[in-house]
This record gives sequence, C-alpha cells and structure tokens, in this order.
Amino acid sequence: MKEVLTNPTSGYYMNRDVFGQTGDFITSPEISQMFGELIAVWLVNEWTKCGRPTPFQIAELGPGRGTLMADMLRVFSKFKIAGSDFSVSLVEVSPYLCQVQEKQLCPSQAQEATEVPQGSQHYKQSISLYGSQIRWYNHISDLPRTFTLFLAHEFFDALPIHKLVKVNQGWREVLIDLNRENLNLRYVISRDRTPACLYRLDSEKREELEVSPQSLVITQMMAARIHQDGGIGLVIDYGHEGDKTDTFRGFKNHKLHDPLVDPGTADLTADVDFAALKWAATQPRTFEDWEANLTYGTVDQKDFLTRIGINLRLEQLLASCRNVNVARNLKSAHKMLTDPMEMGSKFKFLALYPSVMKKILERYPPPGFV
Ligand code: SAH
Repeated sequence: MKEVLTNPTSGYYMNRDVFGQTGDFITSPEISQMFGELIAVWLVNEWTKCGRPTPFQIAELGPGRGTLMADMLRVFSKFKIAGSDFSVSLVEVSPYLCQVQEKQLCPSQAQEATEVPQGSQHYKQSISLYGSQIRWYNHISDLPRTFTLFLAHEFFDALPIHKLVKVNQGWREVLIDLNRENLNLRYVISRDRTPACLYRLDSEKREELEVSPQSLVITQMMAARIHQDGGIGLVIDYGHEGDKTDTFRGFKNHKLHDPLVDPGTADLTADVDFAALKWAATQPRTFEDWEANLTYGTVDQKDFLTRIGINLRLEQLLASCRNVNVARNLKSAHKMLTDPMEMGSKFKFLALYPSVMKKILERYPPPGFV
C-alpha cells in the first residue's frame, strides 16, 4: 500500500491529480466551500477557548489540492487572523500535489516564494494570499514546536494497513504473493507470526482485522505535540469504532477496483479505525510528563455539520445567489455532505484536546460533538 501510493517515482499520489470528476474520487472540500468554511469557524472558536495563543500554526496532513486550506484561510482572514500571528504548515509527500497546493494558496508564488534556508525542516515555502507563511513538510515530526491546530481530512485512510486473521494456530498476517503460473498477485496467509501480529490482540473479539501502525505513530506524535506545545486536533475520515474486519479496497474512476489488479493505477484505501486512533492519542508515554489527552467523538459528518450551522450557511449562500444552476449545485452539495445515504454518516469527526482543557471543556464542550 505504501509503495503503490507513495513510491517516489511511480506512487499513485506522486505525479497526478487524482481528485474530482476526471480523477478517481471526490472529497468533501472539493464538493463545496461550505465544508472548509465551517471547519475554519470551528477551529477559530476552539482556538479562542484556548485563550487565542499566538504565534500558532495550522497544520494540515495530506492537503490534496489545497482546497480545504484555501476555504479556511478565507475565513481566517475574515476573523482578521493573518500575517505574522500564524503560519500554515502542510505535510505532503507528493511533489505534484505540493505544486497544485502552491498554485491554489499562493497566487503570486513566483514573486513571493523564497529560498528555503539550508538545514530547514521544511522543503518548500511561500506566502499565502493573505500574507501568512506557508511551509511544506514531509513528516509530522518535522513541524515547528508551537501551538498547533492539526487537521487531517481523508489522510489516515491512505496510510498502509496490515491485515490479520485468526487461524487454528493463532494470529497470522495476510500477505501479497506473486502467483508464478499466471504472474497475478494473490493473498496468502503467513506461515508464522509476523511483527504485525504483535499488535494488541489479547482481548480481540474479531476473527479478522486491519491495523495501521503508521496511523498510530502519527496520532501519537500529534497527541504528544498537543500535550507539550498546546493545540487541538481534528481528524475527519470514513471509518469505524474498532468493529470492522475487511475494508481494504481500491478506487478507480469512482468505482471499486481490485487492489491486486494493475497496482499503481488506482487509489488504495482502508477505513480508519477510530478506536485505535483514540487509544494511540491517550496512551501515557512517560510517567512524568503525560496526562492523557482528551478525545471527543466520533460523530457523524451530518451531525457535526448540522450542529455547527451548515443549514444556515446554505441559506446565506442561496440568498446572495443569482444563478439558478449555482443554487442547484449548492443544494445538491449540501445533500451530498449531510445525507446519511451519501457522505453524512460514512464520514466521522474526531477531536483531540490537551488534558489542561478539561475544566473549560466540561463547561463549554466542543460544538459539533454535543
Ligand atoms: N485532504 C485532501 C486530500 C486527501 S487524499 C482532501 O480531502 O481532498 C490524501 C492526501 O494525503 C494526498 O494529498 C496525499 O498526497 C497525501 N499523503 C498520502 N500519504 C501520505 C503520507 N504518508 N505523508 C504525507 N502525505 C500523504
């Protein structure tokens, strides 16, 4: 999965635009500006609850075309949050998508982009339309140490998973093998235990499951930063609460695709195990410096968006809309984002807070989650 998606030369994400009608799948920020706008308002609200610490960064993991960030920065600028108060940090491995993001977020890139100083943790930098620094990083561990609003939309579902099955002898891993007779790929069960079988399986009720060690490590890093430097995390994705078994699949031209056929030509994905992410986010690391972070959710996308005002936002946009087609698109986007039969209940929201926020959150719980 890792090779197919992010191999530096031929990885699925590395050299093409995979989103939208002409790509393989479409994501919520690409469906409507309302999505990013509402998330931005939520983040500003929660940052305010933390006492509006500055400077701070907004760090997005896997920003795709940069559409979500563009919609959010527009809202941030309306709240007069711009310039030196905060910076934008994008964690992106795809050189192609990094260019697309730069075009989207830094319209005057040619003049404004500056040389990355030697020894920097980031690999690219520029200035956004609203005057904030934007920097690109390969990995979450490279991000600057400061108060951070983390955002991950459809990021964790792209991280590699291991498939485990329970057989008579105990847990084994499902591996991918080459059938030498016809040169097709096929699934096989490992003869013995593999390192992935060391996952916490003692009280596991399922006979088959998927684990994503990389997702757990990244969640732990996010949680550690939130604990040590202050911040909030918002993870949005399709997923479950640790009860699904087999969700690994491919997508090509908006249709399901067998992951073993023509690897590299289709998106590979698996549902996010939110129960595992919550476990990773709240694990104590050392006895001294760790009081478990707080998690909220998951809640369904339709509940989150409705509670924080998507209906009102739709009304406002419709009120100022003179074009019948645009109005129709707005309504259908609203339906697609919130209808339980579409993206409304498949997508879930999870929030992470530092333990010091406990009292404040008891009094003022995060909107969207209650
Ligand atoms: N958030 C966007 C894009 C989702 S697709 C949206 O919702 O539209 C997944 C994104 O994560 C892409 O930008 C992809 O290049 C990036 N990505 C995938 N694996 C990654 C990794 N290991 N580290 C950093 N970015 C990664």
